[in-house]
Amino acid sequence: MEMSDLAIFSGKPFFDQPLYVGRPVIGDRQRFFELVNDILDRKWFTNNGRYVRAFEKEISEYLGVKHCIAMCNGTVAMEIAIRALELQGEVIVPSFTFIATAHALQWRQITPVFCDIDPATHLLDTNKLEEMITSRTTGILGVHIWGQPCGIGELSKIAAKHHLKLLFDASHAFGCSSNNKMIGNFGDAEIFSFHATKYFNTFEGGAVVTNCDDLARKIRLMKNFGFSGYDHVISIGTNGKMSEICAAMGLVNMDGLENGIAVNRERYVRYESELKNIPGLKILRYKDSGKHNYQYIVLEIEEAETGLSRDELLKVLHAENIIARRYFYPGCHRMEPYRSSCTDAPIWLPETEKVAQRVLVLPSGSAVTQAQVMAICAVIRTAFDQASKIREKLG
Ligand SMILES: *Cc1c(COP(=O)(O)O)cnc(C)c1O
Repeated sequence: MEMSDLAIFSGKPFFDQPLYVGRPVIGDRQRFFELVNDILDRKWFTNNGRYVRAFEKEISEYLGVKHCIAMCNGTVAMEIAIRALELQGEVIVPSFTFIATAHALQWRQITPVFCDIDPATHLLDTNKLEEMITSRTTGILGVHIWGQPCGIGELSKIAAKHHLKLLFDASHAFGCSSNNKMIGNFGDAEIFSFHATKYFNTFEGGAVVTNCDDLARKIRLMKNFGFSGYDHVISIGTNGKMSEICAAMGLVNMDGLENGIAVNRERYVRYESELKNIPGLKILRYKDSGKHNYQYIVLEIEEAETGLSRDELLKVLHAENIIARRYFYPGCHRMEPYRSSCTDAPIWLPETEKVAQRVLVLPSGSAVTQAQVMAICAVIRTAFDQASKIREKLG
């Protein structure tokens, strides 16, 4: 590929159709339509229907976890788990996460206390976490960013030592494992999101999974207004229910799960081999031990070495119809309401600040072919080879 072929010079994008990050995976359509027909025929659309129950059973078996409570989305699942665990005061959480993690706490008027991350993995830095605990701290909300287990052993020890509740936002980590145990089995409870952009989707959806019977009972009540039977309300609750259509989508997509991982892995391996040995460019490596869903192709761009900033490369890629995305930029601590209430957060979050400036996520999965991955990598290599001329052009 020549520099003049780049769309920022030629005006003609390499790809006619945009390539997106996080296109939904769609299972066997025919089977899905059959289930939808059955739902319509039986006229049972929600309220602990047959498909939600089957879905919860299949998820628990797949994860090897005692309880799965399916919900309408991951955020509501998190809000309900936070309330059921009686978290209050302050909870320690990373700032390098999707805003919903912080908002779910703030929604309950709990202060998210942002802890810095390890720049190598983008996960909570467990060495910095203990010093953030105060007399108001009631819990830790860890996030398995990019599907990597988030210091589970260390966090469990710290939580036990300080009598804190431990919750995991496992939105990225469906199908991943840690020490031969599926993510979903750790802490007091874990939360999944089955949003359309996630590796495994139910259109919109989520779940709390836990091995604790009491907690599961409480959460089950809370997601259904506190109803324990007809006309019988025994606790506070809200509406967190998953619909039958979403559960049917989940059941169909569960069948394609392993194939989806295989496709993701192929894309990841190709990206990794095409982009190695470029000074200043790093691709996040997934540890060889354990199961992984390979959902995210995460690049880090060190401007001083590549000659182009992350945002300049983003412009080059978008011009080609490669819709790469910044993730968690600029960090929760730089978004409202946290930005105004903790103005000095950037000082104690130096690694979060750096990573949020450098990260770029590339299109992957079934949304792209191996040949398209090669072309995307050629664009990136050409852009870095001609960094100074591109910078001039971008102005
Ligand atoms: C997607 C996501 C959520 C929110 O899940 P929804 O199902 O969209 O409500 C929360 N946390 C993280 C890390 C996510 O990626």
